[in-house]
Amino acid sequence: MENIGRRLFLGAASLAGSALLAVPRRLFAQAPPSSAGPADPTLIEDLVAANRILADQGVVDGYGHVSVRHGANPARYLLSRSLAPELVTAGDVMEYDLDSTPVDPRGRTGYLERFIHGEIYKVRPDVMAIVHSHSPSVIPFGVTGVALRPLYHMSAFLAGGVPVFDIRAESGEMTDMLVRTPALGRALARTLGSRNVVLMRGHGSVATAASLPHVVFRGVYTEVNARLQAQAMALSSNVTYLDPEEARKAEAAVGGTVSRPWELWKRKAMGK
Ligand SMILES: [Zn+2]
Repeated sequence: MENIGRRLFLGAASLAGSALLAVPRRLFAQAPPSSAGPADPTLIEDLVAANRILADQGVVDGYGHVSVRHGANPARYLLSRSLAPELVTAGDVMEYDLDSTPVDPRGRTGYLERFIHGEIYKVRPDVMAIVHSHSPSVIPFGVTGVALRPLYHMSAFLAGGVPVFDIRAESGEMTDMLVRTPALGRALARTLGSRNVVLMRGHGSVATAASLPHVVFRGVYTEVNARLQAQAMALSSNVTYLDPEEARKAEAAVGGTVSRPWELWKRKAMGK
């Protein structure tokens, strides 16, 4: 900012008075990002359903959010305005560019942590949908150094490893624990790397996938695996996890059937 200001001053000093007024406008009057156009109504409907399902399944409560990449432009994504997921309707869905700037806010407030979504979409072209939650069973694995590992076939997608994002280490300071800046979003995306899920110390987790049904599936079964793993570890110090080859085969098999629970969960959540 300082450098921009100095350049502006030096440049403006050599300009005529009328140009002096025009320079700041050109530099600072940012037009909102352009829209990718109306999203497919089916995609919006699925995004609303994803919000309701995640609430119904106990993955999100008054907090947490789910997004999907815009079908017409991979540089745009869709996310509800700041609202409890269970209350989200089609009219609450906002379009963002990958800097997480709203295309047409119309007075609506966005989630503080929307940068989680934009910064992951920037670096992971394979990711089409993202869930951020504070689902409770996952939290202990972010604060103990005990790795979250797949112990049954439904959570085989955890096999690539589940890294932990430590906001204090990444930012070098005490924060309010929220990923409220693009820089923190970038650091989180870096920690996620090429994996499917990342934990956030003392906060929650993020699941990614190639579709809304799949990311909902991963959000649900990340929570279930965490609960089962804590139970297994309480029973025995000798827990057998999926072998990487078992995980690869299970992921291929179960991953092809996500439409089954999706249809069930959708009917239950939307019927309320
Ligand atoms: Zn959060």
